[in-house]
Amino acid sequence: MQIKLWGVRGSLPAPISNEEYNRKVQSILERAVQAGITRTSQITEFMETLPEDLKHVFGGNTTCVTVTSSSGKTYILDCGSGVRQLGYELMKGPAARGQGIINIFLTHNHWDHIQGLPFFTPIYIKGNILNFYSPYKDQHKILCEQMSAPFFPAPFDKTESTKKYIYLDPKKRAPIQMENDLVVDFFPLKHPGGSFAYRFKQGGKTFIFATDAEFTGEIFEKGHDNTYDFFQNTDLLIIDSQYTLDESFIKFDWGHTSFTMAVNCGLRWKVKELVMTHHEPAYTDAKLYENYQAAIEHGENCKNETTKIYIATEGMTFNL
Ligand SMILES: [Zn+2]
Ligand SMILES: [Zn+2]
Repeated sequence: MQIKLWGVRGSLPAPISNEEYNRKVQSILERAVQAGITRTSQITEFMETLPEDLKHVFGGNTTCVTVTSSSGKTYILDCGSGVRQLGYELMKGPAARGQGIINIFLTHNHWDHIQGLPFFTPIYIKGNILNFYSPYKDQHKILCEQMSAPFFPAPFDKTESTKKYIYLDPKKRAPIQMENDLVVDFFPLKHPGGSFAYRFKQGGKTFIFATDAEFTGEIFEKGHDNTYDFFQNTDLLIIDSQYTLDESFIKFDWGHTSFTMAVNCGLRWKVKELVMTHHEPAYTDAKLYENYQAAIEHGENCKNETTKIYIATEGMTFNL
């Protein structure tokens, strides 16, 4: 499986401000002077030495992730504003000719997880089939309400593609066989109005996407629920890490997790690779990088030897 991140911001798209851009450029130039850069041929090597918050932007688009199976089929997780760019990519293939079959799994219907759909070009092409997998019975109605006047000029129902809805019953939570050796199942998360994690299994590898989730210490208590069973030994876990620990106390019950707790979860569940996502829109790249370093330090303090920690960045890919 290959996992690619198209949108990593939580709650609201958050493009970089001019102020932050200027700070980055200033900081890069200061480092270039200190490094004694005098020739353009030195630039590429110099860029590699920059810290991650200066090397790139973490990204302002809201949640969208793709999973591409070993057979080459792509599955979309959530349609935040990151799905716009994905749509352009898909339009280089069969979706441009109305021959696209697009499978979308929705975690929940907060705006930052569906707001990119009106700008997802394949929905406007006749012949494309969009399969929405969702644990919400009224999924069709919800998507129609988002794309209706006066909020949007083109009603969702009137767009040319064919839409199908596959209801995932949260009471049964039956695994879905997507391909011969690719199975997807899901798990309810603590979040206002609910949210669901999705687990993809193929070729002995496991990927879990668990955003918009408030993980607290309770889940580590023995017999609390079957959270441990679902998450244990995951190869790659993308997990809600929106807040600092302090902020998570102030925003208790808002439905998101601190990066400290996210690391605790990763270690407890023996996750091999953990990716912090759903970045708080108010945090600059400098603040996110500071949080990322603190997360690694927290892991080291907990004697982490099993879990590699990453911070979600638009365009990042992982191969399992
Ligand atoms: Zn969200
Ligand atoms: Zn949410």
